[in-house]
Amino acid sequence: MKDEATTILSIPLLKSPQSDQLIWHYDKHCNYSVKNGYQIALKLKFSETASSSDNFKTHWDVIWAKEIPEKIKVFMWRAAQNLLPTAHNLWQRKTIKEPVCWRCQKENEDIFHALMRCKHADKVWKLTNYYQHIKCLARQNMLSVLQELATNRRKEDVEMIIVLCWSIWYSRNILIFKGKREDPHLSVVRAIGILDSYRRVKTPADQTIPRDQSCLGVIIRDYGGKAVAAAVQKVSFRGDVAFMEAAAVNLGIQVAQNAKLLPIIVESDFKEVVDLTRNRKGCLSEIFWQISAIQASLKSLNQSQIQHVSRACNIIAHALAHLALNYDNLVVWVETFPAEILLLISDSF
Ligand SMILES: [Zn+2]
Repeated sequence: MKDEATTILSIPLLKSPQSDQLIWHYDKHCNYSVKNGYQIALKLKFSETASSSDNFKTHWDVIWAKEIPEKIKVFMWRAAQNLLPTAHNLWQRKTIKEPVCWRCQKENEDIFHALMRCKHADKVWKLTNYYQHIKCLARQNMLSVLQELATNRRKEDVEMIIVLCWSIWYSRNILIFKGKREDPHLSVVRAIGILDSYRRVKTPADQTIPRDQSCLGVIIRDYGGKAVAAAVQKVSFRGDVAFMEAAAVNLGIQVAQNAKLLPIIVESDFKEVVDLTRNRKGCLSEIFWQISAIQASLKSLNQSQIQHVSRACNIIAHALAHLALNYDNLVVWVETFPAEILLLISDSF
């Protein structure tokens, strides 16, 4: 209970009061769904089982101890338990007539085939440093695959491999359900993007930053592209990636407002935050409070707006966020910058 109390106390308060609402914490859009409830129930059930045996727990740590999004852990756990609806599994349940792979029509589509051997998967692995290793793997279940990889690879590599598997499965599903054939490069970029976004908020436990802290970085430019203000802040609450991005957007708006740099165009490389801000229906998870604040600020600041930019355009803000580790509190620079910041902002990213 002490942990919960600390977490609740560290949630930042809004400037304007909002009425209380019931939220389904586990879904970003707060809609409870049977699917989502099922996944959470599976995970809770599994965690209880896992904690009952140290060996068993270690056995599955190859998935659960990884620093990757929860939904991808659940996906890989289902893959390792042979619970994904592959053609082979559906055929065994007599849902379809043949176990043959929809994509290549050459082999039965079991999980190993879908994630490691099918032609799209093969093209994806070829684009990575893991290809030599992956192509030598014997057909086996995904838990053994991960355990074998974990004995030869760094934790970060295994994390990337799991996220790549998820991306391959995602690509397989959009072909089957939407008829869209995805470029293998896109599957790789999606995996890198997901892991990168996740890692920039979820700092590994072995680093000096405490697990309950996060860093925000903001840069403000004039219409000519010249940097006019920057800010960094170490914050004590750490929600998910979207929540922290929304917190950074709020920080940016406050800094611009205080420095009288108006009207503003807020650029975020986190599409979900931009979409939620523009869609006034909002959502009911924790991010709702941050989004409400952004919406209220933009409304009050004449002609201000938010837009989505690629991550490449936002590199300096992310680099600034890393610098926040060096400062205890919020630091704002307007017009003049210390050398370390000048070095960053004058670089031609
Ligand atoms: Zn296939």
